[in-house]
Amino acid sequence: MDVSLTRDWVQNTASAMSRNQEHLTTLDSAIGDGDHGANMARGFGAVRAVIDDASRPAASVDEILVAAGKTLVSVVGGASGPLFGSAFRALGEALDADAEIDTPRFAAGLAAALDKLQQLGAAVPGDKTMVDAYAPAVAAFRDAAHSGADFRTAAHAAADAAEAGMRATVPMQARKGRASYLGLRSIGHQDPGATSTAYVFRALAEATE
Ligand code: ADP
Ligand code: MG
Ligand code: MG
Repeated sequence: MDVSLTRDWVQNTASAMSRNQEHLTTLDSAIGDGDHGANMARGFGAVRAVIDDASRPAASVDEILVAAGKTLVSVVGGASGPLFGSAFRALGEALDADAEIDTPRFAAGLAAALDKLQQLGAAVPGDKTMVDAYAPAVAAFRDAAHSGADFRTAAHAAADAAEAGMRATVPMQARKGRASYLGLRSIGHQDPGATSTAYVFRALAEATE
């Protein structure tokens, strides 16, 4: 994990959010207030602008991720902004600026990000939230890292797990966030935040190619 990969990750994520904005809008219109596509496109668009700002000095991996997190928190009004933003920030803060960011270290960073996400949102797996994609992605990355896989392999395992987790939200009843107001009527729809989380992890995997 280096600065170039981190930049590519952010770029790929911003592209995915803008490419899939309509899909996220459709998903959030079914069980929420329909703004998730706009929230993610605006949020990650702002992150891309901050990272690309040529007037800023070349940042380290941890600085880029902390800046990305702060930007998401300040730019996105919905529940997803503070949650995603704080998770990116926690990931950046968990990475030591001076040390090489190897696969096990990044795995530990992702675990810190998930902890922060769950601390703030109080969602557990099965509540039909972004945690249902984030938690399996973090576990898959960690398992790959522990078995000696390289970063690319671990990132692909995480992306696959996030997508499986995303699909698994369809039959769930929402217990957190706006969708929970629908009760049983939230069943049968894919969670928007789990979907954007899958884009984040796929973007990381693609950045390793
Ligand atoms: P809002 O619901 O405020 O309009 P968004 O539409 O941008 O915000 O984001 C909705 C997504 O946020 C949901 O699909 C869900 O994945 C996620 N979410 C909402 N509440 C929580 C929570 N407490 N913990 C984790 N994720 C949550
Ligand atoms: Mg919404
Ligand atoms: Mg909203």
